[in-house]
Amino acid sequence: MRAKIVDLLHSPARTRASGAWLVGQRGTVVMVLRNGTLALLELDSAADDLPGGVRRWPVHWDDLLVYGMESVSGHPVDDYRLGLSGAGRQAVQHAVPLDTKISLCGESVYPLSVCGWSIPFSPTADRACLECVHRAELP
Ligand SMILES: [Zn+2]
Repeated sequence: MRAKIVDLLHSPARTRASGAWLVGQRGTVVMVLRNGTLALLELDSAADDLPGGVRRWPVHWDDLLVYGMESVSGHPVDDYRLGLSGAGRQAVQHAVPLDTKISLCGESVYPLSVCGWSIPFSPTADRACLECVHRAELP
């Protein structure tokens, strides 16, 4: 998923503190953080040009303009959206097939979508459901 930082009103203080450099930067969303409220954006700019040489910044979705999905073809996990069960920090990330609210492991989940885009399921996320990871990776 490709995104541009348009604002930093809702993002964590650490990100806001470098707002002068970050607003207007483009990058790729590499991870979904904090129960889906934050995106970890890897910026396109060289690390040398960025504050502290840091390329990955947590940014609130409301501060991002999402303008495209990277098509990473050939990997079955890309066919699933991210869905959550549970609440807050304990929420578990499940893989959800398109057009359903039932995850691969049979949980009834709430799918996340941002600006009309569904967030892809990431099997490497900290709170990814192990059964969903296993099922999503079956041929
Ligand atoms: Zn699951």
